[in-house]
Amino acid sequence: MGEELKPCRRCGLDVTPDGIEVTQTDTGTYTARFECPDCGEVAETCMRHSSEDFAVADVIDDWNRRWVDPALLARLAELEAEKAKLARKCVIFQTLMENIMGTAIIETEEHGDQTAGAALAAIRGSIYDTYHELQEVDR
Ligand SMILES: [Zn+2]
Repeated sequence: MGEELKPCRRCGLDVTPDGIEVTQTDTGTYTARFECPDCGEVAETCMRHSSEDFAVADVIDDWNRRWVDPALLARLAELEAEKAKLARKCVIFQTLMENIMGTAIIETEEHGDQTAGAALAAIRGSIYDTYHELQEVDR
């Protein structure tokens, strides 16, 4: 058994091929199975092999193929968190735009051009609130 097993993808345990169980079927072919002694994660051959060595190589291949670099998983979690923050910021910006449009329309319809100053003050207030809401997302 020359090939090494990568650590368990579920619990991270360093495992060795010693625990690989090879079974001979009634037709003389071989299947192999490996179970993580710590968490029970399982790899199994899905076909029958003509030799014990082929079955072992296949189960090692299956086990290793499903392994994922923990650094990549950590990076993935970082990116997911970043994505969630950006999605929140988009909603906040959308709300700001709606507030600005709503303020401009209401002020114009109700009071005409004379209240441009009041509309600007309300818009300024919306922008100020939004600025602080955006800062909250990063905390
Ligand atoms: Zn495990």
